Amino acid sequence: MIDNPFFTPSELPYGLPPFGQVREEHYLPAFERGMAEQLREVREIADDPEPATFANTIEALERSGRILKRTVMVFSTVSASDSTDGIREIETLISPRLTQHADSIRLDRALYARIKQVTTDDAEEAWLLEKYRVDFVRAGADLSESDQERLRELNEELTRLATTFSQNLLTASTASALVVEDAGLLDGLSESTIKAIEKDGSYVLALFNHTNQPALAELTDRETRRRLYELSTGRAPENFGPAARMAMLRAERAALLGYPSHAAYSVADQTAKTTDAVEEMLGKLVGPAVANARREAEALSEEAGFPIEPWDWSFYAERVRKARYDFDSAELRPYFELDRVLRDGVFHAAGELYGITFSERDDLEGYHPDVRVFEVFDADGSPLGLFLFDAYARPTKRGGAWMNNLVDQSHLFDERPVVMNNLNITKPAEGPTLLTFDEVNTAFHEFGHALHGLFSDVRFPRVSGTAVPRDFVEYPSQVNEMWATWPSILANFARHHETGEPVPAELLEKMRAAEKFNQGFSTVEYLAAALLDWAWHKLAPGETVEDAEAFEKAALERAGIAFDLVGPRYRTNYFAHIFFSGVSGYSAGYYSYIWSEVLDAESVDWFRENGGLGRGNGDHFRSTLLSVGGSRDVMDAFRDFRGRDPRIEPLLKRRGLLA
Ligand SMILES: [Zn+2]
Repeated sequence: MIDNPFFTPSELPYGLPPFGQVREEHYLPAFERGMAEQLREVREIADDPEPATFANTIEALERSGRILKRTVMVFSTVSASDSTDGIREIETLISPRLTQHADSIRLDRALYARIKQVTTDDAEEAWLLEKYRVDFVRAGADLSESDQERLRELNEELTRLATTFSQNLLTASTASALVVEDAGLLDGLSESTIKAIEKDGSYVLALFNHTNQPALAELTDRETRRRLYELSTGRAPENFGPAARMAMLRAERAALLGYPSHAAYSVADQTAKTTDAVEEMLGKLVGPAVANARREAEALSEEAGFPIEPWDWSFYAERVRKARYDFDSAELRPYFELDRVLRDGVFHAAGELYGITFSERDDLEGYHPDVRVFEVFDADGSPLGLFLFDAYARPTKRGGAWMNNLVDQSHLFDERPVVMNNLNITKPAEGPTLLTFDEVNTAFHEFGHALHGLFSDVRFPRVSGTAVPRDFVEYPSQVNEMWATWPSILANFARHHETGEPVPAELLEKMRAAEKFNQGFSTVEYLAAALLDWAWHKLAPGETVEDAEAFEKAALERAGIAFDLVGPRYRTNYFAHIFFSGVSGYSAGYYSYIWSEVLDAESVDWFRENGGLGRGNGDHFRSTLLSVGGSRDVMDAFRDFRGRDPRIEPLLKRRGLLA
């Protein structure tokens, strides 16, 4: 096992992992050696006879665990994007071990005592030092022996449950797929979609990770719609048990750490800081959003000529959109070809804003043939980092879209960032990949995260790039969505894949007008999920939940968001954001999207007020916000960017929620 590629630093450009050399049997030995190495390093730091300094304690900790870090970065990437049976087995074995490993560092009393002795006059060091102190306290460093013992047990069980939850979910996205023998039942779907989903004479429509399946907008057969909707909401029912158990364990864990609920624990180190702040914010939105959705429902039932059911919503929403705005979103698709969207849209916008350029590196490879690698250069031509792009859905990939890092930028290691974006676009059986507008928007969103990683210009890996509070992390990515519909950008990428013709101006006009429609639906489905997450994590310690489905129903009613026709974007059984990871993840954090959107709406206004797309504006956003990562208070960074505190009005206006 000497040739294990994780044992030595990658020799590829930018430290790109040598995916071509990585085999499944490399992971376990690399994890083992990586953990052992880091424990040795930590022991040396804790037992150092010299007085504790920033350099021999905090910086030394930042330098520790290099083999483990390399292994974790690659393994977590592959387990999310190309998870084979072998990878799943390793995940089951290693997840609880990694949790134990993290605990054995953060619950190390000698090490914690040493961290408390460190002082420094340097602002960046002081910020990192405080982060370490808080990390240790929040991990239980101040607790008694016996409480720490219980904490370790809770963390381990949570990690096991999370692995079970996510593996059940991955299986369900194909196991609960809609299967029909008769293509006639799929009437409404495009020919290329029908072709792409044919398998040995039957048709298999895999589930997207959220409740409302995109095909519901197109399927003309009502019974097929009902079946698809019920498969979606009923998938992985075996997950209700583990989810409820996780919520109860998290409540117990929060109590050990001195908080009244997991939600309170969770927001304490976020920009929201208190549960009251989150509840006040969500509370402002619920009433107006439900009222909007009810008005929309009336219009849909009128169009249908009967009282609609949840599986009818998208279908009749499309019909009303057509009738009211003369807009059919399917007409846009031929103008959104994947490669053009990427190069002439996403990359082009970044070029106009920040002066950066991209060059595809066909000589570098990812973990799957579909992964593309781009080298990114700064405005002055100097190298900035690598961007990996994995657009397509596959049975081994988890649902949704996300960004992750393969190498964190840091001056400490003199490393430039390697970041990647994953999307879940259906690969056509043949011909060009044509996107929906939602998919275009998602590509811009995820690239906003990628820019946050690529522009990172900080000393320490712990605070690099997107290592910011999670109720802040969605903000830069949401801002980047604004360029998807910016006229000069759109004109540059939206061209007919056959004729090269630009998208007709009147079609765009109609799209803009129609955008306001269905806001009630999307706000309610989002808020219902946020409030469901919140309810699970406001459980009091010792409170038990026998029936998770009944709990879910009651929680939505209590929050005033229950509406038969619009369910939560994720139900408990497939709410990966909050149950995918045991100890952290987005638990009690799904509110973050709308919380960040306050900053997003403010920033979009700022760009518009200052002339929109252009280098000056881009560079201001980059220098005040994107480049500082988590190396300082992010709300201070926001104030530097915007010139004042955020206000909620731009968000309310955008969502059509102003009284
Ligand atoms: Zn995001």
